[in-house]
Amino acid sequence: MAGLYIHIPFCKKACHYCDFHFTQSVKQMDDMVNAIDTELKMQNEFLGHDPVRTIYFGGGTPSLLEDHHMKQLMRTIRFEYDLSSNPEITLEANPDDLSREKLDMFYAHGVNRLSIGVQTFNNELLTWMNRQHNADEALNCFYQARQAGFENISMDLIYALPAENHDIWLKDLKQMTQLRPEHISAYCLTIEPRTAFGNWLNKGKISDIDEEHAASQFEILTEVLNKYGYEQYEISNFAQPGYESQHNSGYWKDEKYLGIGPSAHSYNGKFRKANIANNAKYMKSIHDERKILFDVMTLSPEDQVNEYILTSLRTKWGCDMDLLQSKYGVDLKQVHGFYLEKLAYKDLLFEDEGFLILTDKGKLLADKIAADLFIDAED
Ligand code: SF4
Repeated sequence: MAGLYIHIPFCKKACHYCDFHFTQSVKQMDDMVNAIDTELKMQNEFLGHDPVRTIYFGGGTPSLLEDHHMKQLMRTIRFEYDLSSNPEITLEANPDDLSREKLDMFYAHGVNRLSIGVQTFNNELLTWMNRQHNADEALNCFYQARQAGFENISMDLIYALPAENHDIWLKDLKQMTQLRPEHISAYCLTIEPRTAFGNWLNKGKISDIDEEHAASQFEILTEVLNKYGYEQYEISNFAQPGYESQHNSGYWKDEKYLGIGPSAHSYNGKFRKANIANNAKYMKSIHDERKILFDVMTLSPEDQVNEYILTSLRTKWGCDMDLLQSKYGVDLKQVHGFYLEKLAYKDLLFEDEGFLILTDKGKLLADKIAADLFIDAED
């Protein structure tokens, strides 16, 4: 099974925390969709005809796509790729783009899962982050999406904002649990260097994330969402039973994926590649030479093991020690036996039928524990 990711690199406005690849010159949308369409046709062998079970329109802002764009791209995907029956088709959306007409259009083109970038229901914080929408638009778009027939909706939240207190965070979670989307993603704010927030941090206009504050908001998050029937199947992702993101689960389970569009990454089981993160060069090269500009990313066997440890430990399924042994010849117990015992003794991790799984307490330290379990060439 494999996943297909399509990157739509345009946004109306730059959110102050975001370092994804996008530009604000939306007028190039038609040319970009044509280039993406051509790349879809050129890359149809990359997945070796494995059935595509998930399609994900990400960005940027895919909800800026119009009817004729969706028609063009979905037609190419259906004819060029081996789709499994009833694939999960997700589209990331900003609330201010989703009129009822637009929702009907995406639904008619087969989109069956919406991922709505809410971030918070607090209008002051939305303005502070330079988001385009307000809280009423977020609520309205959720209700309209339901009326349009979407039965699988994910909503994103951000926590640990410097100006956010626990009351605001609890209000956001309460609002979320009243709406009851099938899936909630909640990300701790990270201040990236090449963003407005990064610039403000350098100039001393904001302070860095307070880790204790972030940890207590994470604890509130897991407690509230567990109480309302959401399972934390990955550190930042919560789902009602049966509604885990199939697309993201594929990344965490080492499945193949093909990324189309500028800056998109791909993996076919043998190597990874990253398309050029420059809209003009991406389009020109495809248009003039039918050539895709990308870098191959070579991972050493140790890098592959460490990447697997890092991502798998974040999930409810955990890190499969048998897979490490059979695929990479790594016996994690032999390398880190004493440390694993210590983690179990401190109630940070447990073993279940060969899988290492973090406890709730361990999830707070997930990145550090994973880094401590990394191997090097001698191991
Ligand atoms: S967060 Fe989303 S909408 Fe905001 S700039 Fe980044 S990609 Fe665009």
